[in-house]
Amino acid sequence: MSELAFDHFDFTDDYGPEKVVTVYEPRCGLEGIVVIDNSAAGPTMGGIRMAPDVSVEEVCRLARAMTWKNAMARLRHGGGKAGIRANPRTANREALIRQFGRAIRQLTDYIPAPDMGTNETAMAWIRDEGGRSVGLSRSLGGIPLDESGSTGFGLAIAAEVAEEAGVVALEGATVSIQGFGNVGRPAARFLAERGARLVSVTDLDGTIHDPDGIDIDELVATMDATGGVTAYPRGSRIEGDAFLDLEVDFFVPAARPDVIDSANAGRVGCKVVLQGANIPVTPAGERTLHDRGIVSIPDFVANAGGIICGAVEYAGGSERQAFERIEDTIRQNTREILELARAEGCLLREAAMSIAQRRVSEAMAFRRAD
Ligand code: NAD
Repeated sequence: MSELAFDHFDFTDDYGPEKVVTVYEPRCGLEGIVVIDNSAAGPTMGGIRMAPDVSVEEVCRLARAMTWKNAMARLRHGGGKAGIRANPRTANREALIRQFGRAIRQLTDYIPAPDMGTNETAMAWIRDEGGRSVGLSRSLGGIPLDESGSTGFGLAIAAEVAEEAGVVALEGATVSIQGFGNVGRPAARFLAERGARLVSVTDLDGTIHDPDGIDIDELVATMDATGGVTAYPRGSRIEGDAFLDLEVDFFVPAARPDVIDSANAGRVGCKVVLQGANIPVTPAGERTLHDRGIVSIPDFVANAGGIICGAVEYAGGSERQAFERIEDTIRQNTREILELARAEGCLLREAAMSIAQRRVSEAMAFRRAD
């Protein structure tokens, strides 16, 4: 029996989830989860996370984040998410992902996209087995949302709006990033193109810190060769979560959930949190950041680049159209929540939530009542 069967959660309200499906295939060792949170706006779209400890609760929370994100971006898709409980580097990776694709073939109100631990190749296997996915390679007619760096591009647009609002100037700004994968790397590049300097990078192995600036190409080459950031030849190492204390202009969490919480938000040293990861700040953490004057741009506003790309691909659009839509959407939404939060004296997350909830409720009002 899969452990997932015992993985309890307490997470339902008027918005969802509509379906929570667990998949168990003992022959190849597959344990998977699909959560269709809210499909009022259309078939749900969201990533497949592959991680050894991914849980039903985590996928439910991520699916809800997709409901808000897709509504905020005015996509024709509701929110869903999936998880495969395995190490992404496992020897039977292809077999697990293909089996998962077969298992969810009939679950047509969920359209898979890449997330942590999955990529364009995984999406090609899923489509081959299950008939649908986005984030495909160009050779399959897709817009590779990771290769193109769409989410990192959107984060840089949110940073431009923070600059426009007088929070921090991008030229010469210092940047710390946790997680240097498909979100963290392009975010570093797009911010650097706007004059910012990368000074700290954290991954599973630890943190490197160089106030003089980290060479992004050299770091990427180091990571490709060694698998981690800590072999980077310059700068110093930082232990544990002390990277949160660094006095930088931008901190980009781009890894796992709940990185900033009530226990550590009081010592976060940045001026702006650009939420690249999904749900990287707990509600209590958001409150403390707000009280300390730190601008925290919510995940479902700032990191929508990837899913906008996926939706444009699904609708048959081009990469250029996807980037134009990312820029328009994230610029407009970030401006809107900054203005609303200022007018209402509320948190940016509360401002964003009120807009997203209104849009989802409007979509739900068109559904048959019984
Ligand atoms: P990825 O697998 O490409 O990279 C993840 C990075 O985080 C790696 O560098 C890894 O070493 C690091 N990491 C993992 N666990 C860590 C930990 N506990 N501490 C420190 N570092 C850790 O993943 P990704 O696609 O870049 O996604 C990162 C986050 O961004 C996830 O929360 C994902 O849901 C979110 N996100 C991704 C996209 C996208 O387009 N890929 C879009 C929106 C949101």
